[in-house]
Formats: sequence, structure tokens, C-alpha cells
Amino acid sequence: MTDFVIAPPAGTALPVAGGAARFPVRRVYCIGRNYAAHAVEMGHDPNREPPFFFQKNPDNLDPSGEFPYPGQSADVHHEVELAVALGRGGSDIPLAEAMDHVWGYAVALDMTRRDVQDEAKRLKRPWDTSKAFERSAPIGPLVPKAAFGDPSKGAISLAVNGEIRQSGDLDQMIWKVPEMISYLSGLFELKAGDLIYSGTPAGVGPVQRGDEMLGTIEGIGDIKIKVG
Ligand code: MN
Repeated sequence: MTDFVIAPPAGTALPVAGGAARFPVRRVYCIGRNYAAHAVEMGHDPNREPPFFFQKNPDNLDPSGEFPYPGQSADVHHEVELAVALGRGGSDIPLAEAMDHVWGYAVALDMTRRDVQDEAKRLKRPWDTSKAFERSAPIGPLVPKAAFGDPSKGAISLAVNGEIRQSGDLDQMIWKVPEMISYLSGLFELKAGDLIYSGTPAGVGPVQRGDEMLGTIEGIGDIKIKVG
């Protein structure tokens, strides 16, 4: 047995739909402003500029169905997203091979301390405290790619207390799933176990304690998250 100086941290492993198997997570990458209408609502040009990425921590992922309202913010927003789980890694992955690296998909939320992020943008500081906080990444069970099919289209929505707030289609992504994988693999060496959050459609907005969020992607299913 290895002689660790402290107890080794537990890794993150997510449930896979329809069984007891789990998907072990290595890293969590997120793309910013990947739906034109969301770029516009955030005050940016919706044209196809090079994609940009940030990260959440693997242990921010939370399949529990509860989202505890975080401290240090009074304006926490929902962003519903398609999460792409990689079963194979690589560097400089050609576009034509990118989809061979996908293991599956999930409905996920990129919860954001918007007030903290707005201040970071104003001061030209990094986004970690607005994006990579504890339990900031509620996520549903992973669905193998064969069970979902083509991620280039399908309705994606988020309701709060039964009222639709975000509604879009995966076909509105500025950078498509294979393009994201290929581009990101030029910046980082991707590996099996990596997740990529693929951006959110328009309609982001605040949640309050007690709210119930329902995220849906056609062909994957629903996630129901209670704000605590
Ligand atoms: Mn996002």
C-alpha cells in the first residue's frame, strides 16, 4: 500500500443512466457564450469569434438534485447545458475524428455567481470564484452516446417553478460539439474522463432559495434541482 502523508482525496464519479455503473471524472471544461442569443443578452457580439473556455473543479459536480445557494453572492444564475463526456483523449484531435472521442452526454447546470462574475469582468480578473464554487455543477445521469444519437440538434430548456426561462435548440450552438473537442484539444491534452460543458441558450436569470429548476434536453431527459 502506498504511504500517503494524508488520506488521498476521493475522486468524482457520476452515475450512468439505467444501471449501477459510474463514469469517473478527470477535468471539467466549459465553453463561454456558445449560443448567439445568449452572447447578445450578455452584451457581446454574437459573431463567430474564436471560442474561449474556463474550468470547474471535478468535485463541483453534483448529481444529488440539490443546489445549496452559495454565500458571497446575491445574484446566482442558472445556465442549462449539454455536457459531453469523453471516453478517449488526445491532443490536436482532427475535426473528422472528434466524435470518436465522445462516451456520452448529460443534462447539466453551470450555476454562476453573476454579480461576482460581473465584477471579475470589470476588473479583468479570472472567473474561478464565480464559476468553480462548491456544488456549482448539478448534473444528471450520463447517457451513452449510442442512446442519445446526434448532438447537433434537439430542444434544450430550463424551467423555474414550472415557468420556462431558457428555451433553445442544440442546433443554435456557435461552436458544434466536434469543433469544441478539436479546438480544446489544441489547448490541452484531453483524456478519458474529461467533461465539456457546451454553453447555454438565452434566458439565463437568477434563482432564489426554495426554487425548483427543471432542465431538459430532448433525447436525454430531465434533471430536477431544488435550490436550498
Ligand atoms: Mn455556461
